[in-house]
Amino acid sequence: MNSIQTPLGHEPISTSHWSRTAPAAPPCPALEGTIAVDCTIIGAGYSGLIMALELAAAGRSVVVLDAEAPGWAASGRNAGHVAPLFWGAKKTPRQIVAAYGDDMGARMNRMVADSGRWLFDLIDRHGIACDARRGYLYLARTEASLAKHRETFEEWSEFGGVFEAIDCTELARHVTSPNYAGGVWLPNGGLVNPLALSRGLAAAAVREGVQVFGNSRAVSAVKDGEVWRIQTTQGAVRSRTLLVAAGGYADALFPVLRKAAYTVHCGVIATDPLPDKGTSTLPGRVPVADLDDKAVFSPAIDAEGCLAISFLIGPGDLEMRKALKICAPRIAKAFPQLSPPEFKRIWAGKFTITPDGAPRLLRLADNAFAATGCNGLGHTLGISAARELAKLALGVGKDAINFRVEDAKPLPASSAANWLLRHVAFPLVNRAG
Ligand SMILES: Cc1cc2nc3c(=O)[nH]c(=O)nc-3n(C[C@H](O)[C@H](O)[C@H](O)COP(=O)(O)OP(=O)(O)OC[C@H]3O[C@@H](n4cnc5c(N)ncnc54)[C@H](O)[C@@H]3O)c2cc1C
Repeated sequence: MNSIQTPLGHEPISTSHWSRTAPAAPPCPALEGTIAVDCTIIGAGYSGLIMALELAAAGRSVVVLDAEAPGWAASGRNAGHVAPLFWGAKKTPRQIVAAYGDDMGARMNRMVADSGRWLFDLIDRHGIACDARRGYLYLARTEASLAKHRETFEEWSEFGGVFEAIDCTELARHVTSPNYAGGVWLPNGGLVNPLALSRGLAAAAVREGVQVFGNSRAVSAVKDGEVWRIQTTQGAVRSRTLLVAAGGYADALFPVLRKAAYTVHCGVIATDPLPDKGTSTLPGRVPVADLDDKAVFSPAIDAEGCLAISFLIGPGDLEMRKALKICAPRIAKAFPQLSPPEFKRIWAGKFTITPDGAPRLLRLADNAFAATGCNGLGHTLGISAARELAKLALGVGKDAINFRVEDAKPLPASSAANWLLRHVAFPLVNRAG
């Protein structure tokens, strides 16, 4: 498979490597007729499904609508890494406190530091079979880089983050590479099969009484007195509260959401199971990320022994040739002993980022809210934002919400910024390595 002609991130979900082993989704028929509930959620990715679980646990009746199916978008297509930090570990807890103030900054940091543990506990609690594996390793190429990043991780400890610096002897147990001087171990990070997680969350939501509808694109949302009427292609929902969890897939229904954050196109390539199941490269099968890469280099070996690597997509179609141009030099440098593996699958998805790397909770109208800006960390930042949006929907005051709540408005020059990211910034950082 060389070139995919469908719009990026809209390839059939069966293209994704994760669909090989993910269990089927629970039956999610299209909505027909009109139903009334306390809350309607648009989007059945991690964000929408976590909001649904939180609201159902608080006794609310909930409908989740998805234009396609649970996990069809970024939540089922991502690389599966669970990293409880801000974007690429590059935003430090102190910077968050400086930007958001002592109180909110500290609450944000504590929530994010705890977000990996929270997710793994949720997976256990609901018995979700998604090949969840705990333990994550950030890698530094030089002693100087290791020392610098150790300082950042020490800041995280002040907010409950659990991290352990490891030297190159310890590192050798996990990574066979001459390219790294040491690393930082995150016991509460890890790896999941994201499509299995998405479908498992949908199944858990259904068990908790949530009504999840697939093939049900919301096409209008109109306020009738105190009640929202959300029209889908074949039915309608009436509810007092409306939550939008459309991620990078927001459509014309809420145009402001397409401009309230920037959109990133991201791809993943994966091999078939490697002959040695990856043990000569990542002997501990722990997912890793290179702290010194200017773009993204985060290889992982999945439960079947396949190597999967994500990359930022520049201009043009999704093509294996272009993906290899970005990923192959990184693999060769990090693992010179590895004969170049053959990548068999390629797929893509979209997510949103914000200028400061922190998620946003947005007020769209009375009793209508959205979360955006998972910043490439849907399992941790994105799910944390979804939990907080659910609290907002339950009537918790803004002061007790762990992320800033603001009126939805477009970012300045968002279209130009999206173009610059994809056509200038990503090609540059992809080349820099
Ligand atoms: C290639 C890639 C790799 C990534 N790697 C990682 C990683 O390793 N670790 C990590 O933590 N994060 C990663 N991410 C980010 C993560 O996947 C996202 O942050 C997360 O999945 C976003 O979840 P979401 O629920 O907000 O949105 P999505 O999962 O994108 O779901 C949005 C849903 O809204 C639905 N929708 C939109 N409009 C409507 C409408 N009008 N009516 C009904 N439904 C609608 C869509 O059909 C879609 O299902 C990656 C993302 C990509 C694309």
